[in-house]
Formats: sequence, C-alpha cells, structure tokens
Amino acid sequence: MECNDPKCSIHGDVKVRGIQLEGLVASDKAKKTVVVEVDYTKYVYKYERYLRKRSRIPAHNPDCINAKKGNIVRIAETRRLSKTKSFVVTGVVKK
Ligand SMILES: [Zn+2]
Repeated sequence: MECNDPKCSIHGDVKVRGIQLEGLVASDKAKKTVVVEVDYTKYVYKYERYLRKRSRIPAHNPDCINAKKGNIVRIAETRRLSKTKSFVVTGVVKK
C-alpha cells in the first residue's frame, strides 16, 4: 500500500524522539487516529505497594500501519501532530 501521509514516521516527515510505549488499541473510530491504553505501575510510598494505573493516549495511525481495535501496538513520542496527538504508531506488535 502506498503511503502519502506526511505524519507517518516511516514515509512522512515526523521524527520520533522521547519515550516509546506499548499498549492496546482501545478505539479506532477516528480517522487516522487510535486511542492506545497503556498500563503502568506507580509506587506508593505510604503503603509500600504498587498502584496499577492506565493512561489513554491518542496516537496517529498512518495508512501503512493501519492498526485496528484490539491490536497491541508500539507508539513513539513525536512533535505535536494535532490538538491532542503527540504520539505516532510505529508498529503492530500483535494483531
Ligand atoms: Zn507510511
């Protein structure tokens, strides 16, 4: 598939920098955008235990990757692509 997306990390002009994360695609409703749920743990000193947390990160989903709901994807931080997006999907780990 040909990719003419300027916001694609492989064929476009966005450079990835900063953090990389892996998460589950929770929503693919928006055009060229997926919402990725990332689970992480945070240590709480008061109770000396880990707290399970989850964050939802909107990420750009270029045509050449085309991640679908339920996929495990790798996302990488990039420049701000829109009002809410500053991450781009760099690959599907598991379909
Ligand atoms: Zn592409």
